[in-house]
Amino acid sequence: MSEDGRVPTIELETVLDWIYCEAKVWWQTVGRNIEEEAERLIRPRTGKTLLKEAVQGMLTLGVEQARKGNAFELNSLLGMLWKVRLKKWRLTHIRKKMAAYAVTFEEIMERFTKEGEIRKPDGSLYENPTWSHRWRDLAISTGLSQLRMKIDAEQHKAGLGKAPESSKLDLWKQPIGLADAFARSYWTVQRNTFRLEQIEGVTEEVYVSLPHIRIGVTPDLILRPGDGKLIYEKHLYEMRNPRIPDLMSDYGIKALFSAQQEGSEQKASSVYVRHLMTGKRIRLKPRRAAGLNEIASMATAVHRRLNARDFSGPRMVNGWDACGSCEYRPLCFDGEGLMQRYNLPLSGRITVADELIENMQDCLSVYSEEEKRAGMAFARVFLPWVAQNPGMTEEQIEWLLMGLK
Ligand code: SF4
Repeated sequence: MSEDGRVPTIELETVLDWIYCEAKVWWQTVGRNIEEEAERLIRPRTGKTLLKEAVQGMLTLGVEQARKGNAFELNSLLGMLWKVRLKKWRLTHIRKKMAAYAVTFEEIMERFTKEGEIRKPDGSLYENPTWSHRWRDLAISTGLSQLRMKIDAEQHKAGLGKAPESSKLDLWKQPIGLADAFARSYWTVQRNTFRLEQIEGVTEEVYVSLPHIRIGVTPDLILRPGDGKLIYEKHLYEMRNPRIPDLMSDYGIKALFSAQQEGSEQKASSVYVRHLMTGKRIRLKPRRAAGLNEIASMATAVHRRLNARDFSGPRMVNGWDACGSCEYRPLCFDGEGLMQRYNLPLSGRITVADELIENMQDCLSVYSEEEKRAGMAFARVFLPWVAQNPGMTEEQIEWLLMGLK
């Protein structure tokens, strides 16, 4: 979160994380200071994050090279990227297994596409082939499952969770890991065409500017196709094909409809949603101001509570299932549990108090002991009043200060 002049800025992702579970944002702010380990575990921590980083990294490299006049195949750039990363994680020895996994994955996936022969009993295509029994049978008979187990057993070296305690992984309950991130990144490259010369930015933040708050949102691509037009593109990494009503109710997309680049007044003429697994692109005509009222009020409320480090309980107090597929599980469920270890509301308040004391000490350091006593007397009156009147506006503060004269 950053401040732009007097208008506060907050990222939409932080707002949505807060609404999903305040503990997510606690880990990104207070928790990060408490456990150094959190920093390391939080990013990258899931196969999905890894897949995203591979695709975004490849596009960033591709655009940089295209600007220098070099025409590299995206496939080669992706290969280079993985090679460097595997070396960094000391995982070069599993590269051949990963390549074999990617080839077998592709062979099976192709059988589930329009061109393939596998269909559901009613003749339609599987929406998520990897959840089907047909996929399981093929994965076992072709050795894909075995390969995945061997590769994912080492994924903790790439920052994905912890080292497995037993060699028996229940693959079908696991989210995608290193093996699938690798295979799906190659599948994605084959299914999608990118016009690199039209890409102005990869994962660059744009802003919805409202009178009292600025909300940052990050499209995967900013495109300039010509005629001065501006297009934002959002990428979906899931297997399932997106449904238009779901897209239209997605607050990330609604925010893009009204977002502008830093220092620009121009809004996008279209927002494209690209389903990377199929390469399908859906064009959405921006509905200006769609959802802005809700986004603005959500952002303002979260901003105020986040500033006050006003955390309540984490989702996990309602049990393991309440957390859904949250990627912070390894952190929250470690040991006796997040709440017993850290008491989110209390640790949030302590952090705010620490920050206040540090700022006051800085501020008072230039004054004499006599002057400091005067400041302390003022604070003794003022702080209890603030505690009873949280969320004061700047106008109210000004009004109070005027009263002191
Ligand atoms: S694992 Fe559960 S408690 Fe922890 S951040 Fe995720 S949803 Fe919240």
